[in-house]
Amino acid sequence: MPKILIVGAGQSGLQLGLSLLEHDGYEVTVMSARTPDEIRAGRVMSTQCMFHLALQHERDHGLNFWEAETVKVEGLGVSIAAPDSSRALDWVGKLDNYAQSVDQRVKMAGWLEKFEERGGKLIIHGVTTSDLNSLAGMYDLVVVAAGKGELVQLFDRIPELSPYTQPQRALSLAYVHGLKPRPEHPDFSAVRFNIIPGIGELFIIPAYTLSGNCEILFFEGIPGGPLDVFTDNPHPQEHLDRILALMKQYLPWEYDRATEVELTDARATLAGGYTPVVRNAVGELPSGHAVLGMADVVVANDPITGQGSNNASKCAASYLDSILENGDKPFDRQWMKSAFDTYWEYAQHVTIWTNAMLQPPPPHVLEIIGTAGVKPEVARRFANGFQDPSDFQHWFLDPEKAAAYLAGV
Ligand SMILES: Cc1cc2nc3c(=O)[nH]c(=O)nc-3n(C[C@H](O)[C@H](O)[C@H](O)COP(=O)(O)OP(=O)(O)OC[C@H]3O[C@@H](n4cnc5c(N)ncnc54)[C@H](O)[C@@H]3O)c2cc1C
Repeated sequence: MPKILIVGAGQSGLQLGLSLLEHDGYEVTVMSARTPDEIRAGRVMSTQCMFHLALQHERDHGLNFWEAETVKVEGLGVSIAAPDSSRALDWVGKLDNYAQSVDQRVKMAGWLEKFEERGGKLIIHGVTTSDLNSLAGMYDLVVVAAGKGELVQLFDRIPELSPYTQPQRALSLAYVHGLKPRPEHPDFSAVRFNIIPGIGELFIIPAYTLSGNCEILFFEGIPGGPLDVFTDNPHPQEHLDRILALMKQYLPWEYDRATEVELTDARATLAGGYTPVVRNAVGELPSGHAVLGMADVVVANDPITGQGSNNASKCAASYLDSILENGDKPFDRQWMKSAFDTYWEYAQHVTIWTNAMLQPPPPHVLEIIGTAGVKPEVARRFANGFQDPSDFQHWFLDPEKAAAYLAGV
């Protein structure tokens, strides 16, 4: 019976662990740095908006425990702020299928408990490289799903796939209750992508948290600019006040909805930033054992396109298929490489698009965004690209393909 160790109890590690338990013949161990109660009592970790294809993987394995009560995200809107803080452009594209965001504190704590209930072996332990070095020989396969933590050092950065060496955005967010309904489309919820040219972006994301449905105010600030003012780790209320003051200054139409908001809880703020990177998926331990990197460990994109949890779900689904297909054969380096290559067939498109979105928009993208305001078909295609970004190569990323597409709509 293959013995599989998964290090890291996040979106990818727990989804893979729980879905493996549905198959006879696998002994699955997850190592988590924190208990479910510690996760629930901790700080928010993400905005985690997930689109239809990624959510469907959770449904396929009976893991969509919060689907009924979580607000449905039925559209994706784009606004651009003019220099005088008026709204130069505003539209919303309908999603063919709804997206949802369940606070990772809720989801990961619940999944961790379910993992034990379903017969998985759980070890609460923050794993070091030296732990892994001695543990690896006891398992047929070790998957490192530890997000962006220190264990990434086991996996070499691939420079030709990693154009950035610094964080491209300063991230800052707050989960709030009390945001007033969106006047433009009060009948349905949407993620809103507000662009402040040269300064950054504000995303507003409907979500489900420990205290029910809420909204997340999430700034992505260009480093060194006016939104990059959270490095002093302010007290949560001060953090929210700064976010609101920036909204008032740059995005008054969004601030008008936010005059009565309050934090959902005392741990509902987060600030930071990280460098997008693609790494070699096969990590080498000093003992000579190889380990397989998963999701953010090997492909970490800036959250500007909201793809990390989506990728993690898709990576878990892809690795599950690769594990099952391998049957009783050894999980050697060749198998690890091929498991990653299969996932990368998809993930490369997400990475190319996300890295492009971190740059000022080229003229053909501005034309697409402008046309979407008058042609709902274009807005709809853009919105639905978030569930499968491999579509963007066919029209969005290339000036000639964009021109051909726009000429035909
Ligand atoms: C501000 C922000 C907003 C985001 N918004 C979105 C969004 O809207 N949509 C989206 O799809 N993605 C979003 N993401 C990205 C998303 O959160 C991550 O990409 C996703 O959670 C990655 O999943 P993972 O399984 O690779 O790692 P994680 O979910 O990070 O899980 C890793 C787990 O491993 C644990 N761990 C780490 N080191 C160790 C260790 N040494 N030993 C044991 N355990 C360890 C961690 O505690 C954690 O539980 C956002 C990220 C950020 C920071």
